[in-house]
Amino acid sequence: MQTASFWEKQNGDKVKCFLCPHNCVIPAGKHGICKVRVNDNGALFSSIYGETTGVGLDPIEKKPLYHFFPGSQILSLGTNGCNLSCTFCQNWQISQTGSTERYKLSSDSAVKLALKESAIGIAYTYNEPFIWFEYVLETAKKAKQSGLKNVLVTNGFVNPAPLNELLPYIDAMNIDLKSISDEYYLETCNGKLASVKRTIETAVKRCHVEITNLLVTGRNDSEKELMELTDYIFSLDKEIPLHFSRYFPLFRATEPATPVLTLQNAAKIASCKLSYVYTGNLEDEKSSTLCPSCRTELIRRKGYSIEASGILH
Ligand code: SF4
Repeated sequence: MQTASFWEKQNGDKVKCFLCPHNCVIPAGKHGICKVRVNDNGALFSSIYGETTGVGLDPIEKKPLYHFFPGSQILSLGTNGCNLSCTFCQNWQISQTGSTERYKLSSDSAVKLALKESAIGIAYTYNEPFIWFEYVLETAKKAKQSGLKNVLVTNGFVNPAPLNELLPYIDAMNIDLKSISDEYYLETCNGKLASVKRTIETAVKRCHVEITNLLVTGRNDSEKELMELTDYIFSLDKEIPLHFSRYFPLFRATEPATPVLTLQNAAKIASCKLSYVYTGNLEDEKSSTLCPSCRTELIRRKGYSIEASGILH
């Protein structure tokens, strides 16, 4: 185990972790809400440092990032745990239960692997990367020194200090905005909307950002909510790409999979104000990036492959 950052001693042998807005107070021998930061004899440790549960070479479009080195491959790393507990989690086997199949991968080996595979960089993805803070920071620094890009795929539920410490090494983020309703965040995810908005508002000033909204049938797909979500992103920058992602009933959620029509309607609503709106997690997915002025097709996508015939080099 590796000593954790962002914690302080409390009375007795308790510790307080302030990596994320849960600010867990953790008794000795116990872990925080994320299940991976552990109080061992009055000190906080990361139990997942240098341990991965998934390593893959993914198309950047899979993150999804559509406006960041389109058509490139990125080394993708994930581990166990999450600081939210969304009832619909699409990656619950690693985020909530935790896989017993773990593979050690030092930060040096991760960088070497990315270079060997000619990846543009490293994506910290599959589960929530901020709870893997110590490893992500160390790897991101080394990756940057080697000329690689760093990408976070995150729920955005993090405190400002760790966010600001990591941001200088991060080139792009895909941030989940699961809903524009605080009740939804509280009841469905055990999180807080305000903290996620704060992360988005900080990140858009510092690196490339795209936003993903998982549309859960009957839960966050009303026209009113979609208009509010669109207005919020528009208030930041209408050029921020927004991805509406299809939900499937997994983990504890029982609502039926998002109808394709719901995704198309959501995209129609958001497109009234935002320049780049996409639908994703669909079978036989086809989506294009159009010039917002003349509507010329710049990039055509089919699944995760792209054709950039509309871009003049
Ligand atoms: S990172 Fe984990 S232990 Fe720390 S405050 Fe968040 S949930 Fe609690």
